Amino acid sequence: MNKASITDYKYLEGTKVLLRDDLNVPVNKNGVITDDKKIIEAIPTIKFLIEKGAKVIIVSHLGRPKGKPMPEFSLSPVVEKLKELLDKPVLFETELFSEHMQKMIRTMKNGDVMVLENIRFYPEEEANDEEFSKKLARIADIYCNDAFGTAHRAHASTAGITKYIPSYCGLLMAKEVEVFSELMNDPKRPFVVVLGGAKVSDKIKLISNLIDKVDGIIIGGAMAYTFLVAQGHNMGASKVDEAKVEYAKLLLEKASNKKVKIYLPIDHLVAKEFSFLADYDVCSSENFPADGIGMDIGPKTIRLFTKVIKSAKTVYWNGPMGVFEYKRFSKGTRAVARAMAENPNQMVVGGGDSAAAVRNFGLEKDFYFVSTGGGASLALLEGSELPGIVNLKEKE
Ligand code: AMP
Repeated sequence: MNKASITDYKYLEGTKVLLRDDLNVPVNKNGVITDDKKIIEAIPTIKFLIEKGAKVIIVSHLGRPKGKPMPEFSLSPVVEKLKELLDKPVLFETELFSEHMQKMIRTMKNGDVMVLENIRFYPEEEANDEEFSKKLARIADIYCNDAFGTAHRAHASTAGITKYIPSYCGLLMAKEVEVFSELMNDPKRPFVVVLGGAKVSDKIKLISNLIDKVDGIIIGGAMAYTFLVAQGHNMGASKVDEAKVEYAKLLLEKASNKKVKIYLPIDHLVAKEFSFLADYDVCSSENFPADGIGMDIGPKTIRLFTKVIKSAKTVYWNGPMGVFEYKRFSKGTRAVARAMAENPNQMVVGGGDSAAAVRNFGLEKDFYFVSTGGGASLALLEGSELPGIVNLKEKE
């Protein structure tokens, strides 16, 4: 992937740039942003455009308002945060394509910044509607996509628009693409991928493709139970994706044929109820109680996974090892984060829960790279073309 960066565009002064950011941050009931990582990551491109004298019109989504305006998904708290981080006024337009919006844009001065209200308030966005994409394109002179976190979605403001306006990648997008290209094309070996979380269906296709590229795959979290059942273990009342057990068997076979090691948990923290206060026992995969619920990986598994991670030269991690939201079941996730933090090589965390966990554990600075895109980075590793990247201009 050799895409033109916004830094390659020479005529930014006075140019209207429609900047697609991923400002989809968690906002609590009181309208307070609880994790501002995505806003902070968006700042360098915004500042670059301001310094070059562009007129910056930012588009983003927040949450899943399902195509209608919902006040709890307003970008208003994000606008306040941007004002603080940029230390300058930020215009906020709530009526897309209105007379008022046109007037605001006409009166923007070089270096001004405007945010348009949550683009997912319009059903045409997620439908990747042609007319809507054209109308978005007409707002500006050029388009810049810096929203790596949504680059795997073919929506109007990420993909549709690129057909109608010169399109460049932003600084964050360029960095993300560079890191994942390195991982896919020239990883230092051994290359190990660590997968966890609950949704097997999201990641199982990835495993099939990864078997051709990596030296080992560690599987933890609820995902692991589907594979353990495929190996003939009984995982009690744990979260198992029954529909995927046969496929998991095929993957284990494929990995074994290709001599790629799959590391599964050998012991577990097992509770009788799914609760943050639940008592637990440590049980092996062989002696799993019929009414037990697997909540986290056990101590022997922590030792095994830590050893594998520490001897790797490249590690990509996506998905927690247990129900890490509950402190007593966060040890496995913390151990993976720590093992990676202590490894000075190419340690990369996919976005979402694992990136949030790394930040909460205070370990972010010890990582080679913490990506802002969970789904997008998985899609890149899978070898998919991302709709938000594919039509951006090629470097000249
Ligand atoms: P995902 O969105 O697929 O990455 O899944 C993340 C979720 O997986 C988190 O909310 C975790 O609580 C959940 N998870 C991880 N391990 C387990 C487990 N053993 N049982 C149930 N849920 C789990």
